[in-house]
Amino acid sequence: MNEIPGPIAPPARLLMGPGPISAYPSVLTAMSAALVGQYDPFMTATMTETQELYRRVWGTSNDATVLIDGTSRAGIEAAMISLIRPGDRVLVPVFGRFGHLLAEIAERAMAEVHTIEVPWGQVFPVSAIEQAILAVKPQLLGLVQGDTSTTMLQPLDEVGALCAKHGVLFYSDATASLGGNPFEADAWGLDAATAGLQKCLGGPSGSAPITLSERAVELIRSRKKIEAGIREEGDEDAADFIRSNYFDLGMILDYWGPRRLNHHTEATSMLYGARECARLLLLEGRDEVIARHRLHGAAMLAGVQGLGLTVFGDLAHKMTNVVAVEIPEGVPGDAARTAMLTDFGIEIGTSFGPLHGRVWRIGTMGYNARTDAVLQTLAALETVLRRFCAPVAANGGVDAAQGIYASAGR
Ligand SMILES: *Cc1c(COP(=O)(O)O)cnc(C)c1O
Repeated sequence: MNEIPGPIAPPARLLMGPGPISAYPSVLTAMSAALVGQYDPFMTATMTETQELYRRVWGTSNDATVLIDGTSRAGIEAAMISLIRPGDRVLVPVFGRFGHLLAEIAERAMAEVHTIEVPWGQVFPVSAIEQAILAVKPQLLGLVQGDTSTTMLQPLDEVGALCAKHGVLFYSDATASLGGNPFEADAWGLDAATAGLQKCLGGPSGSAPITLSERAVELIRSRKKIEAGIREEGDEDAADFIRSNYFDLGMILDYWGPRRLNHHTEATSMLYGARECARLLLLEGRDEVIARHRLHGAAMLAGVQGLGLTVFGDLAHKMTNVVAVEIPEGVPGDAARTAMLTDFGIEIGTSFGPLHGRVWRIGTMGYNARTDAVLQTLAALETVLRRFCAPVAANGGVDAAQGIYASAGR
Protein backbone atom coordinates (compact mmCIF):
# COMPACT_ATOMS: atom_id res chain seq x y z
CA MET A 1 0.00 0.00 0.00
CA ASN A 2 2.84 2.35 0.80
CA GLU A 3 4.82 1.43 -2.29
CA ILE A 4 5.98 4.31 -4.44
CA PRO A 5 5.00 3.85 -8.09
CA GLY A 6 7.72 3.77 -10.76
CA PRO A 7 8.37 6.58 -13.24
CA ILE A 8 5.56 7.31 -15.66
CA ALA A 9 5.51 4.76 -18.51
CA PRO A 10 2.46 5.14 -20.75
CA PRO A 11 1.60 2.30 -23.14
CA ALA A 12 2.17 2.76 -26.88
CA ARG A 13 -1.03 4.24 -28.31
CA LEU A 14 -2.17 5.50 -31.66
CA LEU A 15 -4.76 8.15 -30.80
CA MET A 16 -7.24 8.13 -33.69
CA GLY A 17 -10.20 9.63 -31.85
CA PRO A 18 -11.65 13.15 -32.13
CA GLY A 19 -8.87 14.52 -29.88
CA PRO A 20 -6.64 14.44 -28.00
CA ILE A 21 -4.35 12.94 -30.63
CA SER A 22 -0.76 11.69 -30.49
CA ALA A 23 1.53 14.73 -30.41
CA TYR A 24 4.29 15.35 -32.92
CA PRO A 25 7.46 13.89 -31.35
CA SER A 26 9.28 17.21 -31.62
CA VAL A 27 6.52 18.90 -29.61
CA LEU A 28 7.17 16.50 -26.74
CA THR A 29 10.90 17.11 -27.10
CA ALA A 30 10.39 20.88 -27.02
CA MET A 31 8.34 20.51 -23.86
CA SER A 32 11.20 18.82 -22.05
CA ALA A 33 13.59 21.73 -22.72
CA ALA A 34 15.09 23.52 -19.71
CA LEU A 35 13.05 26.14 -17.88
CA VAL A 36 14.05 29.79 -17.67
CA GLY A 37 12.72 32.52 -15.41
CA GLN A 38 9.50 34.38 -16.05
CA TYR A 39 11.30 37.55 -17.17
CA ASP A 40 14.43 35.96 -18.60
CA PRO A 41 15.17 37.68 -21.92
CA PHE A 42 14.92 34.24 -23.55
CA MET A 43 11.44 33.76 -22.08
CA THR A 44 10.08 37.13 -23.19
CA ALA A 45 11.69 36.73 -26.62
CA THR A 46 10.10 33.28 -26.94
CA MET A 47 6.71 34.71 -26.00
CA THR A 48 7.06 37.43 -28.63
CA GLU A 49 8.23 34.92 -31.24
CA THR A 50 5.30 32.61 -30.43
CA GLN A 51 2.84 35.49 -30.86
CA GLU A 52 4.24 36.12 -34.33
CA LEU A 53 4.00 32.42 -35.24
CA TYR A 54 0.35 32.30 -34.15
CA ARG A 55 -0.51 35.45 -36.11
CA ARG A 56 0.48 33.47 -39.17
CA VAL A 57 -1.44 30.37 -38.02
CA TRP A 58 -4.61 32.47 -37.51
CA GLY A 59 -4.16 34.56 -40.66
CA THR A 60 -4.13 37.84 -38.79
CA SER A 61 -2.13 40.94 -38.09
CA ASN A 62 -3.85 41.31 -34.69
CA ASP A 63 -1.38 42.56 -32.15
CA ALA A 64 -3.47 40.84 -29.45
CA THR A 65 -2.53 37.28 -30.36
CA VAL A 66 -1.43 35.29 -27.31
CA LEU A 67 -1.83 31.99 -25.48
CA ILE A 68 -4.17 31.38 -22.56
CA ASP A 69 -2.74 28.87 -20.10
CA GLY A 70 -5.32 26.12 -19.83
CA THR A 71 -7.23 23.79 -22.13
CA SER A 72 -9.35 25.07 -25.00
CA ARG A 73 -12.20 26.05 -22.76
CA ALA A 74 -9.85 28.38 -20.90
CA GLY A 75 -9.64 30.29 -24.18
CA ILE A 76 -13.43 30.22 -24.54
CA GLU A 77 -13.93 31.47 -20.98
CA ALA A 78 -11.31 34.19 -21.34
CA ALA A 79 -12.95 35.47 -24.52
CA MET A 80 -16.47 35.37 -23.18
CA ILE A 81 -15.91 36.66 -19.68
CA SER A 82 -13.82 39.53 -21.05
CA LEU A 83 -16.06 40.48 -23.98
CA ILE A 84 -19.51 40.04 -22.43
CA ARG A 85 -20.93 42.67 -20.12
CA PRO A 86 -23.58 41.36 -17.73
CA GLY A 87 -26.94 41.68 -19.47
CA ASP A 88 -25.50 41.67 -23.01
CA ARG A 89 -27.43 39.68 -25.55
CA VAL A 90 -25.38 36.81 -26.97
CA LEU A 91 -26.48 34.70 -29.91
CA VAL A 92 -25.17 31.12 -30.18
CA PRO A 93 -26.15 29.01 -33.18
CA VAL A 94 -25.87 25.45 -31.86
CA PHE A 95 -25.05 22.57 -34.20
CA GLY A 96 -23.44 20.22 -31.67
CA ARG A 97 -22.15 19.80 -28.16
CA PHE A 98 -19.71 22.68 -28.22
CA GLY A 99 -22.39 25.17 -29.20
CA HIS A 100 -24.12 24.21 -25.96
CA LEU A 101 -20.81 24.80 -24.16
CA LEU A 102 -20.51 28.33 -25.62
CA ALA A 103 -24.10 29.04 -24.55
CA GLU A 104 -23.38 27.76 -21.05
CA ILE A 105 -20.24 29.84 -20.66
CA ALA A 106 -22.03 32.95 -21.99
CA GLU A 107 -24.73 32.30 -19.41
CA ARG A 108 -22.11 32.15 -16.66
CA ALA A 109 -20.73 35.45 -17.97
CA MET A 110 -24.21 36.79 -17.16
CA ALA A 111 -25.34 37.29 -20.74
CA GLU A 112 -28.88 37.04 -21.97
CA VAL A 113 -28.30 34.00 -24.17
CA HIS A 114 -30.27 33.22 -27.30
CA THR A 115 -29.72 30.01 -29.26
CA ILE A 116 -30.89 28.67 -32.58
CA GLU A 117 -30.41 25.03 -33.50
CA VAL A 118 -30.16 22.71 -36.46
CA PRO A 119 -30.31 18.92 -36.15
CA TRP A 120 -26.95 17.27 -35.42
CA GLY A 121 -25.13 16.51 -38.66
CA GLN A 122 -26.04 19.82 -40.29
CA VAL A 123 -24.72 23.39 -40.33
CA PHE A 124 -26.45 26.78 -40.58
CA PRO A 125 -27.05 28.60 -43.85
CA VAL A 126 -25.77 32.18 -43.49
CA SER A 127 -29.32 33.43 -44.03
CA ALA A 128 -30.49 31.67 -40.85
CA ILE A 129 -27.74 33.37 -38.86
CA GLU A 130 -28.66 36.77 -40.31
CA GLN A 131 -32.32 36.23 -39.50
CA ALA A 132 -31.44 35.42 -35.90
CA ILE A 133 -29.14 38.46 -35.66
CA LEU A 134 -32.01 40.66 -36.84
CA ALA A 135 -34.40 39.11 -34.33
CA VAL A 136 -32.07 39.03 -31.30
CA LYS A 137 -29.88 42.10 -31.98
CA PRO A 138 -27.01 40.56 -30.01
CA GLN A 139 -23.88 42.34 -28.87
CA LEU A 140 -21.91 39.15 -29.57
CA LEU A 141 -22.25 36.15 -31.86
CA GLY A 142 -20.54 32.97 -30.59
CA LEU A 143 -20.11 30.34 -33.26
CA VAL A 144 -18.16 27.09 -33.25
CA GLN A 145 -16.26 26.50 -36.50
CA GLY A 146 -15.81 22.74 -36.31
CA ASP A 147 -17.84 20.76 -33.80
CA THR A 148 -16.15 17.41 -33.15
CA SER A 149 -19.35 16.03 -31.62
CA THR A 150 -20.97 15.99 -35.07
CA THR A 151 -17.84 16.39 -37.29
CA MET A 152 -19.50 19.35 -39.03
CA LEU A 153 -17.65 22.47 -40.23
CA GLN A 154 -19.72 25.66 -40.11
CA PRO A 155 -18.77 28.00 -42.98
CA LEU A 156 -17.57 31.27 -41.42
CA ASP A 157 -16.34 33.22 -44.43
CA GLU A 158 -19.49 35.32 -44.86
CA VAL A 159 -20.43 35.64 -41.20
CA GLY A 160 -17.94 38.37 -40.33
CA ALA A 161 -19.33 40.77 -42.94
CA LEU A 162 -22.80 40.08 -41.58
CA CYS A 163 -21.67 40.86 -38.05
CA ALA A 164 -19.91 44.04 -39.16
CA LYS A 165 -23.08 45.16 -40.97
CA HIS A 166 -25.19 44.70 -37.83
CA GLY A 167 -22.61 45.91 -35.29
CA VAL A 168 -22.14 42.50 -33.68
CA LEU A 169 -18.86 41.20 -32.24
CA PHE A 170 -17.93 37.89 -33.88
CA TYR A 171 -16.29 35.17 -31.80
CA SER A 172 -15.46 31.65 -32.97
CA ASP A 173 -14.21 28.52 -31.21
CA ALA A 174 -11.90 26.94 -33.78
CA THR A 175 -10.41 24.33 -31.45
CA ALA A 176 -11.27 21.29 -33.53
CA SER A 177 -10.66 22.80 -36.93
CA LEU A 178 -7.68 25.19 -36.76
CA GLY A 179 -4.72 23.90 -38.73
CA GLY A 180 -6.63 21.19 -40.60
CA ASN A 181 -9.26 23.39 -42.25
CA PRO A 182 -8.99 26.93 -43.63
CA PHE A 183 -9.23 29.75 -41.09
CA GLU A 184 -8.67 33.42 -41.93
CA ALA A 185 -9.18 35.60 -38.88
CA ASP A 186 -8.72 38.90 -40.71
CA ALA A 187 -10.25 38.10 -44.08
CA TRP A 188 -13.32 36.60 -42.41
CA GLY A 189 -13.78 39.48 -39.99
CA LEU A 190 -13.30 37.67 -36.68
CA ASP A 191 -13.18 39.79 -33.51
CA ALA A 192 -12.08 36.90 -31.36
CA ALA A 193 -11.08 33.31 -31.98
CA THR A 194 -9.73 30.61 -29.71
CA ALA A 195 -8.32 27.11 -30.11
CA GLY A 196 -6.36 24.38 -28.38
CA LEU A 197 -3.37 22.25 -29.32
CA GLN A 198 -4.80 18.74 -29.05
CA LYS A 199 -6.57 18.57 -32.40
CA CYS A 200 -5.04 19.46 -35.77
CA LEU A 201 -2.17 21.44 -34.22
CA GLY A 202 -0.68 18.17 -32.96
CA GLY A 203 0.16 18.99 -29.35
CA PRO A 204 -1.15 18.10 -25.91
CA SER A 205 -4.07 19.93 -24.37
CA GLY A 206 -3.16 22.72 -21.97
CA SER A 207 -2.58 25.84 -24.05
CA ALA A 208 -5.26 27.89 -25.80
CA PRO A 209 -4.16 30.18 -28.63
CA ILE A 210 -6.36 33.28 -28.88
CA THR A 211 -6.50 36.26 -31.22
CA LEU A 212 -8.47 39.50 -30.74
CA SER A 213 -9.28 42.31 -33.18
CA GLU A 214 -8.64 45.94 -32.28
CA ARG A 215 -12.38 46.39 -31.77
CA ALA A 216 -12.40 43.54 -29.24
CA VAL A 217 -9.36 44.94 -27.44
CA GLU A 218 -10.99 48.39 -27.27
CA LEU A 219 -14.06 46.88 -25.65
CA ILE A 220 -11.94 45.01 -23.12
CA ARG A 221 -9.92 48.15 -22.37
CA SER A 222 -13.11 50.16 -21.88
CA ARG A 223 -14.21 47.93 -19.03
CA LYS A 224 -13.52 48.96 -15.49
CA LYS A 225 -10.12 48.04 -14.17
CA ILE A 226 -10.09 46.21 -10.91
CA GLU A 227 -7.01 45.31 -8.96
CA ALA A 228 -6.57 43.99 -5.48
CA GLY A 229 -7.46 46.57 -2.86
CA ILE A 230 -8.46 49.43 -5.12
CA ARG A 231 -12.14 48.78 -5.78
CA GLU A 232 -14.39 51.22 -4.02
CA GLU A 233 -16.99 50.08 -1.48
CA GLY A 234 -20.50 49.70 -2.81
CA ASP A 235 -19.21 49.74 -6.38
CA GLU A 236 -20.18 46.16 -7.16
CA ASP A 237 -23.61 46.58 -8.70
CA ALA A 238 -22.87 49.06 -11.39
CA ALA A 239 -19.25 48.18 -11.91
CA ASP A 240 -18.55 46.76 -15.34
CA PHE A 241 -15.47 44.83 -14.34
CA ILE A 242 -14.32 41.48 -15.74
CA ARG A 243 -15.48 38.86 -13.28
CA SER A 244 -12.38 36.72 -13.37
CA ASN A 245 -8.80 37.47 -12.51
CA TYR A 246 -7.25 34.50 -14.30
CA PHE A 247 -9.20 35.13 -17.50
CA ASP A 248 -9.06 38.95 -17.49
CA LEU A 249 -7.83 39.51 -21.03
CA GLY A 250 -6.90 43.09 -20.22
CA MET A 251 -4.42 41.88 -17.63
CA ILE A 252 -3.27 38.98 -19.82
CA LEU A 253 -2.56 41.35 -22.72
CA ASP A 254 -0.61 43.65 -20.40
CA TYR A 255 1.50 40.66 -19.43
CA TRP A 256 2.19 39.61 -23.03
CA GLY A 257 2.54 43.19 -24.25
CA PRO A 258 5.52 45.55 -24.04
CA ARG A 259 4.71 46.52 -20.44
CA ARG A 260 5.04 42.91 -19.24
CA LEU A 261 2.91 43.60 -16.19
CA ASN A 262 3.00 40.61 -13.91
CA HIS A 263 -0.13 38.45 -14.02
CA HIS A 264 0.13 34.63 -13.92
CA THR A 265 3.43 32.83 -14.47
CA GLU A 266 3.36 31.81 -18.12
CA ALA A 267 3.38 28.00 -18.35
CA THR A 268 6.84 27.68 -19.82
CA SER A 269 6.70 24.06 -21.02
CA MET A 270 3.30 24.64 -22.65
CA LEU A 271 4.70 27.75 -24.33
CA TYR A 272 7.53 25.66 -25.76
CA GLY A 273 5.01 23.06 -26.95
CA ALA A 274 2.66 25.62 -28.47
CA ARG A 275 5.59 27.30 -30.21
CA GLU A 276 6.68 23.98 -31.71
CA CYS A 277 3.12 23.20 -32.93
CA ALA A 278 2.99 26.51 -34.79
CA ARG A 279 6.57 26.21 -36.03
CA LEU A 280 5.92 22.75 -37.53
CA LEU A 281 2.71 23.95 -39.16
CA LEU A 282 4.35 26.95 -40.79
CA LEU A 283 7.44 24.98 -41.78
CA GLU A 284 5.27 22.49 -43.68
CA GLY A 285 3.04 25.33 -44.94
CA ARG A 286 -0.45 26.28 -43.83
CA ASP A 287 -2.04 25.18 -47.12
CA GLU A 288 0.06 22.01 -47.24
CA VAL A 289 -1.05 20.97 -43.75
CA ILE A 290 -4.70 21.53 -44.71
CA ALA A 291 -4.16 19.51 -47.90
CA ARG A 292 -2.60 16.70 -45.84
CA HIS A 293 -5.61 16.64 -43.50
CA ARG A 294 -7.89 16.66 -46.54
CA LEU A 295 -6.04 13.72 -48.13
CA HIS A 296 -5.88 11.49 -45.07
CA GLY A 297 -9.40 12.46 -44.02
CA ALA A 298 -10.63 11.44 -47.48
CA ALA A 299 -8.70 8.16 -47.22
CA MET A 300 -10.26 7.39 -43.83
CA LEU A 301 -13.72 8.29 -45.13
CA ALA A 302 -13.31 6.04 -48.18
CA GLY A 303 -11.87 3.34 -45.94
CA VAL A 304 -14.77 3.17 -43.51
CA GLN A 305 -17.19 3.24 -46.43
CA GLY A 306 -15.13 0.44 -48.02
CA LEU A 307 -15.72 -1.56 -44.84
CA GLY A 308 -19.42 -1.15 -45.48
CA LEU A 309 -20.00 1.36 -42.68
CA THR A 310 -22.46 4.23 -42.97
CA VAL A 311 -21.09 7.72 -42.37
CA PHE A 312 -23.04 10.22 -40.26
CA GLY A 313 -23.87 13.80 -41.22
CA ASP A 314 -23.84 16.09 -44.23
CA LEU A 315 -20.61 15.09 -45.98
CA ALA A 316 -20.50 18.37 -47.90
CA HIS A 317 -19.84 20.11 -44.58
CA LYS A 318 -17.66 17.55 -42.83
CA MET A 319 -14.38 18.68 -41.27
CA THR A 320 -11.33 17.27 -43.04
CA ASN A 321 -10.00 15.72 -39.86
CA VAL A 322 -12.71 13.56 -38.30
CA VAL A 323 -15.42 11.18 -39.46
CA ALA A 324 -18.41 9.76 -37.57
CA VAL A 325 -19.41 6.22 -38.53
CA GLU A 326 -22.57 4.44 -37.51
CA ILE A 327 -21.97 1.40 -35.35
CA PRO A 328 -23.29 -1.59 -37.34
CA GLU A 329 -26.38 -3.38 -36.12
CA GLY A 330 -25.49 -6.04 -33.55
CA VAL A 331 -21.96 -4.76 -32.84
CA PRO A 332 -21.42 -3.70 -29.19
CA GLY A 333 -19.88 -0.26 -29.67
CA ASP A 334 -17.94 -0.03 -26.42
CA ALA A 335 -16.63 -3.60 -26.54
CA ALA A 336 -15.39 -3.02 -30.08
CA ARG A 337 -13.61 0.20 -29.04
CA THR A 338 -12.04 -1.66 -26.14
CA ALA A 339 -10.81 -4.37 -28.50
CA MET A 340 -9.26 -1.68 -30.75
CA LEU A 341 -7.44 -0.29 -27.72
CA THR A 342 -6.31 -3.42 -25.93
CA ASP A 343 -5.53 -5.62 -28.94
CA PHE A 344 -4.17 -2.98 -31.32
CA GLY A 345 -3.24 0.00 -29.14
CA ILE A 346 -5.53 2.19 -31.25
CA GLU A 347 -7.99 4.61 -29.67
CA ILE A 348 -11.12 5.66 -31.53
CA GLY A 349 -13.83 7.89 -30.08
CA THR A 350 -17.23 7.37 -28.62
CA SER A 351 -20.00 10.00 -28.90
CA PHE A 352 -22.18 12.33 -26.88
CA GLY A 353 -25.80 13.36 -26.63
CA PRO A 354 -28.11 12.16 -29.39
CA LEU A 355 -25.25 10.22 -31.02
CA HIS A 356 -24.26 8.31 -27.89
CA GLY A 357 -24.07 4.61 -28.65
CA ARG A 358 -24.86 5.29 -32.31
CA VAL A 359 -21.56 6.37 -33.83
CA TRP A 360 -17.82 6.09 -33.38
CA ARG A 361 -15.69 9.08 -34.24
CA ILE A 362 -12.37 8.52 -35.96
CA GLY A 363 -9.88 11.37 -36.34
CA THR A 364 -6.93 11.90 -38.65
CA MET A 365 -5.29 14.94 -37.14
CA GLY A 366 -1.92 16.58 -36.75
CA TYR A 367 0.82 13.97 -36.50
CA ASN A 368 -1.70 11.18 -37.14
CA ALA A 369 -2.86 12.59 -40.48
CA ARG A 370 -0.52 10.00 -41.96
CA THR A 371 -0.81 7.05 -44.32
CA ASP A 372 0.42 4.36 -41.93
CA ALA A 373 -1.86 5.59 -39.14
CA VAL A 374 -4.89 5.51 -41.46
CA LEU A 375 -4.13 2.06 -42.88
CA GLN A 376 -3.36 0.50 -39.49
CA THR A 377 -6.62 1.83 -38.08
CA LEU A 378 -8.64 0.48 -40.99
CA ALA A 379 -6.96 -2.93 -40.86
CA ALA A 380 -7.54 -3.21 -37.12
CA LEU A 381 -11.14 -2.05 -37.44
CA GLU A 382 -11.81 -4.72 -40.07
CA THR A 383 -10.51 -7.45 -37.73
CA VAL A 384 -12.55 -6.16 -34.81
CA LEU A 385 -15.75 -5.84 -36.87
CA ARG A 386 -15.27 -9.39 -38.12
CA ARG A 387 -14.83 -10.64 -34.57
CA PHE A 388 -18.23 -9.18 -33.71
CA CYS A 389 -19.73 -10.87 -36.77
CA ALA A 390 -20.35 -7.71 -38.79
CA PRO A 391 -20.35 -8.36 -42.54
CA VAL A 392 -17.21 -6.68 -43.96
CA ALA A 393 -15.61 -6.87 -47.39
CA ALA A 394 -12.17 -8.49 -47.09
CA ASN A 395 -9.53 -5.72 -47.09
CA GLY A 396 -12.34 -3.31 -48.06
CA GLY A 397 -11.09 -0.50 -45.85
CA VAL A 398 -7.40 -0.59 -46.70
CA ASP A 399 -8.12 -1.05 -50.42
CA ALA A 400 -10.45 1.94 -50.57
CA ALA A 401 -8.00 4.14 -48.67
CA GLN A 402 -5.16 3.05 -50.91
CA GLY A 403 -7.35 3.91 -53.89
CA ILE A 404 -7.51 7.49 -52.59
CA TYR A 405 -3.75 7.60 -52.11
CA ALA A 406 -3.15 6.16 -55.58
CA SER A 407 -5.40 8.70 -57.26
CA ALA A 408 -3.57 11.47 -55.37
CA GLY A 409 -0.30 10.08 -56.77
CA ARG A 410 0.92 8.85 -53.38
C1 LIG B 1 -12.28 19.44 -28.57
C2 LIG B 1 -12.96 20.73 -28.49
C3 LIG B 1 -12.82 21.55 -27.35
C4 LIG B 1 -12.02 21.02 -26.20
O1 LIG B 1 -11.97 21.81 -25.07
P1 LIG B 1 -10.94 21.40 -23.92
O2 LIG B 1 -11.14 22.38 -22.86
O3 LIG B 1 -9.56 21.46 -24.53
O4 LIG B 1 -11.26 19.99 -23.55
C5 LIG B 1 -13.43 22.78 -27.36
N1 LIG B 1 -14.16 23.20 -28.43
C6 LIG B 1 -14.31 22.42 -29.53
C7 LIG B 1 -15.10 22.91 -30.68
C8 LIG B 1 -13.72 21.16 -29.57
O5 LIG B 1 -13.87 20.38 -30.64
